[in-house]
Amino acid sequence: MADDKKLTTREADFSAWYNEVVLRAELADYSPVRGCMVIRPNGYGIWERMQRALDDMFKATGHQNAYFPLFIPESFLHKEAEHVEGFAPETAVVTHGGGKKLEEPLIVRPTSETIIYSMFAKWVQSYRDLPLLINQWANVVRWEMRTRLFLRTLEFLWQEGHTAHASHDEAEEEARRMLGVYSDFMEGWMAMPVITGQKTNAEKFAGALRTYSCEALMQDNKALQAGTSHNLGQNFAKAFDLKFQAEHGGQEFAWNTSWGVSTRLVGGLVMTHGDDVGVRIPPLLAPIEVVIVPIYKSDDERSRMLDAADAIVRRLEDWERRDPGRLRVKIDDRDGIKPGAKYYEWELRGVPLRMELGPRDLEKNQAVLVRRDTREKRPVSLDAMGEDIADLLMRIQEDMLIAARDRREQNSIRHKISYDDFKELMEGKGAFVYAGWCGSPDCEREIKEETKATIRVLPDEEFRSAEAPATCLKCGREATAEAVWARAY
Ligand SMILES: [Zn+2]
Repeated sequence: MADDKKLTTREADFSAWYNEVVLRAELADYSPVRGCMVIRPNGYGIWERMQRALDDMFKATGHQNAYFPLFIPESFLHKEAEHVEGFAPETAVVTHGGGKKLEEPLIVRPTSETIIYSMFAKWVQSYRDLPLLINQWANVVRWEMRTRLFLRTLEFLWQEGHTAHASHDEAEEEARRMLGVYSDFMEGWMAMPVITGQKTNAEKFAGALRTYSCEALMQDNKALQAGTSHNLGQNFAKAFDLKFQAEHGGQEFAWNTSWGVSTRLVGGLVMTHGDDVGVRIPPLLAPIEVVIVPIYKSDDERSRMLDAADAIVRRLEDWERRDPGRLRVKIDDRDGIKPGAKYYEWELRGVPLRMELGPRDLEKNQAVLVRRDTREKRPVSLDAMGEDIADLLMRIQEDMLIAARDRREQNSIRHKISYDDFKELMEGKGAFVYAGWCGSPDCEREIKEETKATIRVLPDEEFRSAEAPATCLKCGREATAEAVWARAY
């Protein structure tokens, strides 16, 4: 049963609100292991739907799933210099097994480039073996000091795509394609708008040639890096001797990409759509899309309402046969809990649509539908069930994206801003700030030290301002690129 105490509001303390929502909507819980979380069925149900959608998209773009070991020989991590520098500080290392000290310690994977490309080197001989397009669903471990449920935990679930190609251009195209898959998923399924673009050298993945990212703006105006895609160049191929016989003869090193999204997306979903009542889940990802709450006083009314609710579900199922798996409906038939308490609980959990069904509704051959996103109520005829509800769910899905995009744009600064005002903004309300950058890593580092804001991306063309900024936000010299700045999770 949900706790009746009101949630802390987002306005009062966004971070406290987030933790309370995640715990009380029973998405996740703290675990006996510091920094690790337990994903509860309500949260896992969302992740499962995310996985299914993404997996279909990966397969539609030619990828196959495979599985590689949890452990990586320590020496593997050292073969790519930038990679080890980036990941060594946060690895968990196994030194003993079966009561004996291991000859070579094993790293619990923080990411699997090294072990996967060592296998690719075995499998790829000729250009005919390329491209090799593999995805792995797995858990990874990064020894983080400060953790937050879903957003940053020692162990998390994710997928990591790993591919090998015959040329730089093919790898670049792949890295870009998968960034597009992520951005389509985030907007189409999560109703979470993102801006895409390239990371600066300071922010790119350890060992990559170039990193691309999808960045979303949360309701506290901090950015969430929601998914990344890397063109790894030949760095790992050289480290693991991943060579192939080229079409025109001679041995060449392959070109790799890797790309990943994680259970962090569940946190992003909460911080994008949640309100002071609880979570709001976009219908496509909601484990339950419609909950029917029967309203009754006497036993006789109870059995009549439950019969009517069953009939509605059957009608929806009949309708659904034309489009299987489309509607996920639940009747909340728990006795001894008042309808108001049920409403409260389902709103907290973010079910997109609630159907209230009482004796007076039934007399009028109707039920009352309440949207979770807008909390708008309206009667619906019992004869029009099916298509009507499916349409309304699609509308909710679209409206949630529009609302999230409007909010992001209202909190994006595209006009010229002085560095002092920028500093004040980053310390206060926060925003996505589109500003000029001279390309100097010093300006980038100084801004980060002084404001905690980082360049989220050098945005792709469709996100750039109509008029390119002329000068660097920090030093005032000529800008060589437009950059999107924000504090980030
Ligand atoms: Zn500068």
